[in-house]
Amino acid sequence: MYKLSSAPLVTSQQIDKRLDTLASEIKAADFDVILSVLTGSYIFTADLSRKIADTELEIAFIKASSYGDSTESKGTVKISGLEKLDIKGKRILLIDDILDTGNTMKALVETLLKLEPASIKTCVLLNKESRRVVDCHADFVGFEIEDKFVVGYGLDYASKYRTLPEIWTLEEV
Ligand code: 5GP
Ligand code: MG
Repeated sequence: MYKLSSAPLVTSQQIDKRLDTLASEIKAADFDVILSVLTGSYIFTADLSRKIADTELEIAFIKASSYGDSTESKGTVKISGLEKLDIKGKRILLIDDILDTGNTMKALVETLLKLEPASIKTCVLLNKESRRVVDCHADFVGFEIEDKFVVGYGLDYASKYRTLPEIWTLEEV
């Protein structure tokens, strides 16, 4: 059994403020396409992209799954939604929710490179640096966090908790 921590790890105000900075950095880097990884980064992508507010910027989605209803990554990454993706020759910003072991991001970048984009940079809302297993880094990071399982702001546990506006730690009871 799990329960939410007594207070949010990151509040809505902290997220909003950090996204202002991230958005201006991303705007300056001039991407053609934001490629967002469903489902965990849907709120992050919506909030960040509205702060970038660039009429030329395209938004596309793919899905990656490695977690069942557990809090541990299984290391195998299933990617879907690649069929209709048109990224050849484009400058891509890949957005995911969390960089944990790095398995997901590494698999995504390797797969996307085969579609011959002009470039790929990566952006994550949260980075758990201490958890890294494979060589992988993000070019843009919202917040560095410790090795704790988090939910809210799009992030789930067993498909629940996504709609919370803040980021919370899930504690075992
Ligand atoms: P990795 O492949 O880097 O180990 O895991 C990345 C994926 O695992 C993330 O995209 C996210 O879906 C999931 N994940 C990793 N840590 C957490 C966490 O603390 N909370 C939630 N909800 N998902 C996580
Ligand atoms: Mg994910």
